[in-house]
Amino acid sequence: MKITKIDVFLVSTPFVKPQTMAMWTSYKKDHVVVKIETDEGVFGIGETVPLVAEFGEPVESIKYVIQDWLAPAIIGEDPFNFEAIFDKMYKAAKNHLFAKCAIDFALHDLVSKALDIPLYKFLGGKTRDKVPVSWVIGIKKPEEAAKEALDFVERGFKELKLKAGSDWRGDMERVKAVREAVGWDIAIRIDPNQAWSVARAITIIKKLERYELQLVEQPTPAWDLDGLAKVTKAVDTPILIDEGVRTPEDAVKVVRKEAADMINLKIGKIGGIYYSKKINAIAEAADMPCLVGSMLEGNIGTAASAHFALAAPNLKFAHDLIGPLFRADDVVKEPLKIKNGYLEVPEKPGIGVELDEGKLETLKYGGRWAMPKVGR
Ligand SMILES: [Mg+2]
Repeated sequence: MKITKIDVFLVSTPFVKPQTMAMWTSYKKDHVVVKIETDEGVFGIGETVPLVAEFGEPVESIKYVIQDWLAPAIIGEDPFNFEAIFDKMYKAAKNHLFAKCAIDFALHDLVSKALDIPLYKFLGGKTRDKVPVSWVIGIKKPEEAAKEALDFVERGFKELKLKAGSDWRGDMERVKAVREAVGWDIAIRIDPNQAWSVARAITIIKKLERYELQLVEQPTPAWDLDGLAKVTKAVDTPILIDEGVRTPEDAVKVVRKEAADMINLKIGKIGGIYYSKKINAIAEAADMPCLVGSMLEGNIGTAASAHFALAAPNLKFAHDLIGPLFRADDVVKEPLKIKNGYLEVPEKPGIGVELDEGKLETLKYGGRWAMPKVGR
């Protein structure tokens, strides 16, 4: 079997409600959808959803990099030759990990479809039956966050993630309000997205220890592993590194410096499942659990990530795979099902979701500021 063609489509999907984090508010997501075809008629679909303000790679640049650099390097290759394909892509264009993620997901979909098995079987089989997911609450007033938390706990979510970082006193009040609303059996984590200094992180996390946080995610700037190591040593709450790990080499540095207790494998920022497996193996050998984060991907990216989350025992806690719940519309025929705090992983061959080709046109990307025409 040989890869014959790689098509790239740009789309935007509208959010049901805006989502606010430390640095910005999102009303929609811009996606790159990739379709890889072969000489045997089997094809795979992939997706990547960049976050330009943090990681670069606008959708236009992803399209260009795939069409002009990555696709020419791998067309003609057997899609099962993962090692050769990733080596060729590395040599054709270093970095560009979001672009590579779209290709990675499509290759994983393709090969497992060719084998007529769900992707998790290709990745080594199930280690659990369904994927627990956390509900992510944006930055809002404490009483509003508490109300939303209670709402989702009643819908079956057992782990909550609070976005933080715009105002540290407000962050503390929000944690207090949510803990008081949901009680002590629900896990609460916070993610200030790098907003705190080392000293402030240590002070705040110590003050929050009375609320028994499950973990704190990337409290300090991504580049400062020494600073994060100081925070990790100073507090009892486990520290999860996110933006600070994008490559296997980053993961080795984190292990050597004992900079964090666990790693967020946000698959888009890492360049796909191929590299996520490598980082997970490094973390597992260092006794560091990982969880699967998200770029709030749509159904394609979330499905691919969910198969990975099902297949690796070192992936602990609930994963942030809730992007489909944020969407008022998407480019698939049937969206994934998230019920009672669990994502149901499709049993169909490949990633198990089907591209709706008509939606590639109706949800076509119209530019950074253009909102998608189709909404709920
Ligand atoms: Mg994060």
